[in-house]
Amino acid sequence: MLEKFERYPLTFGKTPIEYLPRLSDALGGKVEIYAKREDCNSGLAQGGNKLRKLEYIVPDAIASGADTLVSIGGVQSNHTRMVAATAAKIGMKCRLVQEAWVPHDDAVYDRVGNILMTRLMGADSRLVEEGFDIGIRTSYEEAIKDVEREGGKPYGIPAGASVHPFGGLGYVGFAEEVREQEAELGFKFDYIVVCVVTGSTQAGMIVGFKKDGRADRVIGIDASATVDQTRAQVKEIANKTCELIECGYSIEDEDIHINPDYAYPAYGVPSAETNDAIRLAARTEAMITDPVYEGKSMQGMIDLVKKGFFPEGSKVLYAHLGGQPALNGYSYTYRNG
Ligand code: PLP
Repeated sequence: MLEKFERYPLTFGKTPIEYLPRLSDALGGKVEIYAKREDCNSGLAQGGNKLRKLEYIVPDAIASGADTLVSIGGVQSNHTRMVAATAAKIGMKCRLVQEAWVPHDDAVYDRVGNILMTRLMGADSRLVEEGFDIGIRTSYEEAIKDVEREGGKPYGIPAGASVHPFGGLGYVGFAEEVREQEAELGFKFDYIVVCVVTGSTQAGMIVGFKKDGRADRVIGIDASATVDQTRAQVKEIANKTCELIECGYSIEDEDIHINPDYAYPAYGVPSAETNDAIRLAARTEAMITDPVYEGKSMQGMIDLVKKGFFPEGSKVLYAHLGGQPALNGYSYTYRNG
């Protein structure tokens, strides 16, 4: 489905799928849980889901003649870390807007984890006092104009690399990769669980899995706590991606499954249940998840297994999208483990 699009390699290749026997047993053993390790996908600054998206955006950035990648996220944004890494790797400058999306109490929140690595990679990272919003922000538009005023040639990449014409392609590729791996494994997954916030990860998966009738088996777990905006963004990105790749179908409401029940109390703030989920995955499988994204999708998957949402015997693929560096900004929360 993606042959006609140029791809600039930023990842190692296919990401591994591993069986999680101790987590499956801890949840009653009626469902088999596997993980696809997108968190281990690259040597660039610890990797993560954004690199799959950026692989299809970089050729356009290079062709545009730009010298500076411009993007936006929260202070502990994984996405801006990945844009900074990509800029370093392809020899461009990087200008970032890092907004105050998350209330926090850790003294070092704005000095460790994602933002520390972002600074190390030479990005011009500027903190801005604006709250959470997945849409296009004036601070981002201003940053693009700033680069122009300073004589640079900017290339804008919106939050999460989502509302970009090529933002959905990477995760169409994920679905194709899963199909190849299923052929090697000799079985198919019944469900795919994925965290959703800015939308292009799930949107790409929905487009890719619709090809074999599984769009609604992609279970999005919302971590934005602004689920209506996220759902609308997923649908829009999915349909634009369908048009772009000329797949011959469109995405309807019934193709989009997003569960809003686990995003509480707010974006970036873990609930007691999120923290229990993070501990369970860490203690059974040494699989580290973060309090902003994967901890919430882990919480959702665990709760859905316990509630019997997945029929007995189901094989569930948890898409681990990365995000562990943010844990460093939550040292007070986990000081006792
Ligand atoms: N998981 C991690 C670790 C992320 O960094 C993100 C980024 O927002 C997501 C999940 C959600 O992906 P998306 O923004 O494409 O919905």
